[in-house]
Amino acid sequence: MLNQKYYGYGTAPSVIRELFAYGLEQAKIVGKDKVYDYSLGNPSIPAPAKVNDTIKKLVDEESSILLHGYSMAPGFESTREAIAANLRKRFNTNAKASELFMTCGCAPALISVACALTSEPDDNFVVIAPYFPEYNVFFKAGGGKVRRVAPDIPDFQINLEALEETVNHDTVAVVINSPNNPSGVIYTKETLEKIAAVLKKKSVKYGHPIYIVADEPYRELVYGDAKVTFIPEVYDDTIVCYSWSKSLSLPGERIGYVYVPEKCANGQALYATIAGAAREIGSVCPPTLIQRVVEECVDCEPDLLAYDENRNDLYNGLTEMGYECAKPDGAFYLFMKAPNGDDMAFSEAAKLEENILIVPGTGFGCPGYIRLAYCVSNKTIKDSMPGFKRLIEKYGK
Ligand code: PLP
Repeated sequence: MLNQKYYGYGTAPSVIRELFAYGLEQAKIVGKDKVYDYSLGNPSIPAPAKVNDTIKKLVDEESSILLHGYSMAPGFESTREAIAANLRKRFNTNAKASELFMTCGCAPALISVACALTSEPDDNFVVIAPYFPEYNVFFKAGGGKVRRVAPDIPDFQINLEALEETVNHDTVAVVINSPNNPSGVIYTKETLEKIAAVLKKKSVKYGHPIYIVADEPYRELVYGDAKVTFIPEVYDDTIVCYSWSKSLSLPGERIGYVYVPEKCANGQALYATIAGAAREIGSVCPPTLIQRVVEECVDCEPDLLAYDENRNDLYNGLTEMGYECAKPDGAFYLFMKAPNGDDMAFSEAAKLEENILIVPGTGFGCPGYIRLAYCVSNKTIKDSMPGFKRLIEKYGK
């Protein structure tokens, strides 16, 4: 008998993957430049030159046996120390190498944390809509449950009353993703401080710590004057999950980490438990070469000009036509209202009538909205505008 849970995960349709596959097929028929694919969050700016230069240097200069061999399970001490130094420089934290555990991207970091925090079948993780659909898989990995907080429309900050009602006796953590996929919203420091106050109160009431899991692959993707609060600064019991998938445009290299500050409740035991969970899912000894690369490139800042230009052109173009959306401050997503209120039907119409591939909000826990990943060429944005215009004229507001 096969494991039915995994069979279900393996066969469940993925709207995003299907849209992407449709786009590839359509491109063969109508031409690549007539398909406007806003479906995938795959970075469109190249990794900084220093990344490739470092890879070349390491390959040329170092022993290939060591470079392609195993590292220690939690990653190289020197890599973790470089990351800790970067965190100390930028944030009010005393981060140490011993508090960092390297993972094969942010997804296994989140899964390891989910497994480490789940000890009873009723344990639950609270997620805030709109949220990354994979949370429905990741946070059940240890056998626990997911509870959802309804979206705070139209600003997509966090409805604190709804959060307070959703956190219950069995809540082990609240997942915070800022900058947010899919809304592009950055939660304000004030919002996070209020959440911290709620969670402190609830932790005392229920007699166990309720952690924040800060899911931060978009931390460095911030525009204008917006600021991303480093959540351990406002809430002690915060576990940070990070990757360089988006910030250094390295999603295929699978590299990230979990940061478990010692000041976290049960800090050292928690770190050891996360290490054990990472062992079970095989997210140990992440790629050696890429660990060495992030060690040298940890201070590199992404050049966000192209995303920022896309963000402005897309937001201005769509809102001038009458589409409704909040201007995103971070990540590379724009979340807009489906003009006819039906995100599934609108996404399908955009696909079939205009070859515009946009993702319904339903999968993000937010029906009625549509996600556009603007990590595309600026030409795609400009060329797709007439199609968006025809769609709003036809499907109205
Ligand atoms: N968390 C969020 C909100 C994401 O959008 C993604 C990827 O798109 C991940 C986690 C997973 O990141 P990684 O590719 O580093 O595993």
